[in-house]
Amino acid sequence: MSVRTRPHPEQQAENNVTKADLDWANLDFGYHQTDYNIRYTWRNGAWDAGVLTRDESIPLHIAATCLHYGQECFEGLKAFETRRGDVVAFRPDENAKRLIRSCKKILMEPVPEPLFMAAMERVVNANRHYVPPYGTGASLYIRPLVIGTGPQVGVKPATEYMFVILVTPVGPYFKTGFKPVDLVVEEEVDRAAPLGVGDVKVGGNYAAGIRATMAAKQRGFTEVLYLDAREKKYLDESGPANFFGVTQDGQYVTPASPSILPSITNKSLLTLAEEMGMRPVQRPVAVDEIFEFAEAGCCGTAAVITPVGSITFRDRKVVYSKDGRAGRLTTELYQRLRAIQLGDAPDKYGWVYKIPPPKE
Ligand SMILES: *Cc1c(COP(=O)(O)O)cnc(C)c1O
Repeated sequence: MSVRTRPHPEQQAENNVTKADLDWANLDFGYHQTDYNIRYTWRNGAWDAGVLTRDESIPLHIAATCLHYGQECFEGLKAFETRRGDVVAFRPDENAKRLIRSCKKILMEPVPEPLFMAAMERVVNANRHYVPPYGTGASLYIRPLVIGTGPQVGVKPATEYMFVILVTPVGPYFKTGFKPVDLVVEEEVDRAAPLGVGDVKVGGNYAAGIRATMAAKQRGFTEVLYLDAREKKYLDESGPANFFGVTQDGQYVTPASPSILPSITNKSLLTLAEEMGMRPVQRPVAVDEIFEFAEAGCCGTAAVITPVGSITFRDRKVVYSKDGRAGRLTTELYQRLRAIQLGDAPDKYGWVYKIPPPKE
């Protein structure tokens, strides 16, 4: 596929885009090159107009605060092609607001919500032919990030920031179907402290947890389930996703904790669970409650829901799925959310944001 001859995306009407020549249904959840990313610089008290670029690298000062003191935060959301052929993003205003909270918590310059939305529209439109076709199960993953780029040797916030959005087409998360995974309760490693930065989406939280995840994988588990760092008694969340359980009488229960990242998927599932009569509740959940649940799942943008087949805690293992299939209510929650995202069910709550094609 030749990209050279294509006109600049912002001078081009793309109502009838030709799709990129990719094997959509077999894409993995990894980085695939697209045509453009977008980047904005904050300098002398203002964000610039931003630029779409084909350059996949960022020139950085060797003393940039993102390199030394972890001034970095990010977001993750997806764009889909709907049944009607529209390109939509799922609750992007929520990601914009969360990115502001993340920036503020680690003293970075926040990206105003209108700038976030405009940047997302520009970069999706510039890569519109990478939005996977409806029905393939694939999507365009959108990854915004903010980094401190100004040099600082003493521990101080940077005086310059960069806001970048890259996009990459990703395949269906469950290639082999909606299959339950095995979790293990983590007792040796804390992801985040109660008064730390666990409630914002900063890269440092992932650095803190990566050794726990890799050790769990070596032992044959898919992910860890973290406990609260203070008492080691209550459930927090999984590595990159929130956790929920379904009680024997069908109630949706998800942990409340100051060190959990508030998931937009979980927030949406709480609404759908209410609709389904599941009496959803967000409260501290003692680790022993895992032995009482009928179903369990992890939730986040990447997979929407990952059904949990078993959880191992010390020398005990609770099995939710004996036949390799997800629970009934977990499956229904998943199907309801996916249907809204793809335009197959009415968007009652205004969650689906249409990205209009660029004007001529
Ligand atoms: C991003 C993230 C989630 C999922 O949030 P969504 O908004 O649903 O994608 C959950 N936990 C952690 C730690 C995260 O970073």
